Amino acid sequence: MMIEMKEVSKWYGTVQVLNNCSTNIKKGEVVVVCGPSGSGKSTLIKVINALEPFQKGEIYVDGQAVHDPKTDLPKLRSRVGMVFQNFELFPHLSVTENLTLAQIKVLGRSQDEAKTHGLKYLDRVGLMLHKDKFPGQLSGGQQQRVAIARALSMDPIAMLFDEPTSALDPEMVGEVLDCMMGLATDGMTMMVVTHEMGFAKKVGSRVIFMDVGGKILEDCSKDEFFMHPENRQARTKDFLNKIL
Ligand code: ADP
Ligand code: MG
Repeated sequence: MMIEMKEVSKWYGTVQVLNNCSTNIKKGEVVVVCGPSGSGKSTLIKVINALEPFQKGEIYVDGQAVHDPKTDLPKLRSRVGMVFQNFELFPHLSVTENLTLAQIKVLGRSQDEAKTHGLKYLDRVGLMLHKDKFPGQLSGGQQQRVAIARALSMDPIAMLFDEPTSALDPEMVGEVLDCMMGLATDGMTMMVVTHEMGFAKKVGSRVIFMDVGGKILEDCSKDEFFMHPENRQARTKDFLNKIL
């Protein structure tokens, strides 16, 4: 088991944003998380690598207890790659510097080692020619691929994506999804918040549907999710009708 969540609840003040969420993600699984805006999808992703604290329940990443105060959280975070909607590259650093910074600072790799490693992943996302550019000189799709390469440079045991294509112009969505599908095919454990149901159908293992109030309403295999729509909850059907 790569990620285990047991009865996790989280509140912002008095507002409950995760309500007793439990799920398990096995090594190599690709779990797609969908649901309406405000249902807690981003929060569900963030609690996994402790970017947000939670008040109740347990989370284990590769057996390490996220909720245990004794756990080395920076180290744990360095092992779980995150890709956000808005890329979050450092604008004042070149692509190569973006790729190497955390490897050097967090993993203690040498400049050379970090560069070799980072460029290997940059090549893999097809952007070697852009290694000396700055993020502002790249398209949104290219920036997101750099962000993916940067996360991969840390040799993560799992990758979490929070709506990685929703800030992109439509013509750039495909290149980022292709890149993510490649990762999935190579066996990366992934949790992906997205409404790209084509991605879910092609490489998803499971689909989680979250509903307002931070509840996991459905958690089922991809085949069950798409092939037996009659078994879906009314709220899920409503939602799918709106986005498909
Ligand atoms: P989603 O990603 O599904 O749109 P979020 O996880 O971003 O949902 O948010 C879930 C709920 O938590 C929303 O009601 C949102 O307004 C609230 N929320 C998110 N971040 C904060 C915060 N930092 N402080 C207070 N409320 C927040
Ligand atoms: Mg969100």
